[in-house]
Amino acid sequence: MSTATELIHSIPVDAQTGAISVPIYQTSTFVQEAPGVNRGYDYARSGNPTRAALEDLIATLEKGSTGAAFASGLAAIDAVVKLLQSGDEILAVDDIYGGAFRLFTHIYQQFGITVNYVDTTDAENVFNAITPRTKLIWLETPTNPTLKVSDIEGIARIARANRCLLCVDNTFASPALQQPILLGADIVVHSATKYLGGHSDLIAGLVVTKEAELGARIKYIQNASGAVLGPFDSWLLIRGIETLHLRVKQHCANALAVAEFLQQHPDVAQVFYPGLATHPNHGIAKKQAKGFGGIVSFTLKENTEEAALRFVTSTQLFLLAESLGGIKSLVSHPANMTHKSIPADKRRAAGVADSLIRLSVGLEDAEDLVHDLEQAFRAAAQRSIFAKQGILSVPETV
Ligand SMILES: *Cc1c(COP(=O)(O)O)cnc(C)c1O
Repeated sequence: MSTATELIHSIPVDAQTGAISVPIYQTSTFVQEAPGVNRGYDYARSGNPTRAALEDLIATLEKGSTGAAFASGLAAIDAVVKLLQSGDEILAVDDIYGGAFRLFTHIYQQFGITVNYVDTTDAENVFNAITPRTKLIWLETPTNPTLKVSDIEGIARIARANRCLLCVDNTFASPALQQPILLGADIVVHSATKYLGGHSDLIAGLVVTKEAELGARIKYIQNASGAVLGPFDSWLLIRGIETLHLRVKQHCANALAVAEFLQQHPDVAQVFYPGLATHPNHGIAKKQAKGFGGIVSFTLKENTEEAALRFVTSTQLFLLAESLGGIKSLVSHPANMTHKSIPADKRRAAGVADSLIRLSVGLEDAEDLVHDLEQAFRAAAQRSIFAKQGILSVPETV
């Protein structure tokens, strides 16, 4: 069965009523016939039928044995770290999501779990950094915002040989493009807030494990720590996932059109998109994923914060906001937004230049998106001239 068909038909029809949409079981508890005798559910933190349908769905999509749904992507990441104990080390991608960095470094180091960040685009760096204490290798691929791609299969081989778990944050690719478990990963996590939800209307996280035994440990942590996803958000997320393949296909096509436009624009210095042959990891991206995703970043020839700020406030269809993966196109300035807490020299060293702009390319018509960027370059240039002439009060749209 092909992937879209499998996805759509792995969402169950309600056995009791025939409801074609999974019912929202908005309940905290379940009546028991005798103590411990129930119909599979006893308390909604431990299990809820709406959430269970979502958890089975993501396990199917990611080709794992067990799925678990959490209140956010970070709660999902947190559950995976709780597999470790004091004295263990995490070996993580250096270009990691800021929230995961904060959790690993500022929360878990307090509990004796250490973390070592390396450039995982070269698998040899991973091999060289492993110590007897390394228990978890943490990849994100592609990364944010410079879209670095790491070789999942190669790093999975290193993880296996060293008895470490490999976890891949698959948020940017989504299972429509990349299935890390098929490439050897033990665990996949998602911020389902992004492409899986797809409509910028919820916060959710998912964990999928390859082995059922590891899945049982994650479920135990999910119940013990309690950061579960509620039934309404579970339903909303199922609804989003139903159109994942269709949406992702269009995100990819639009992003490529945008990347190609940016690449030939005279004001642009560099474009980061794994789908471009000029991207340093294009080869591995092509090998391990079915497409290159909807995120495009670029730097300006005038490599200043001011120039970037003028641009991100000159777009009209691309809305200025954090987050990504929704139907509406978004623009952001990482140096001032998602990466603001990182010291400027460290941020620049990680490839996030002062003028770096990130686009989450949505589902509008590609032509309209390109036109919007064209007019934003013109408007930003005009405002730059005004600024140089000392005219301070410039209308937002010139
Ligand atoms: C957004 C994001 C997260 C965190 O997810 P939340 O749902 O915001 O908690 C983790 N990883 C990546 C790659 C993300 O983009």
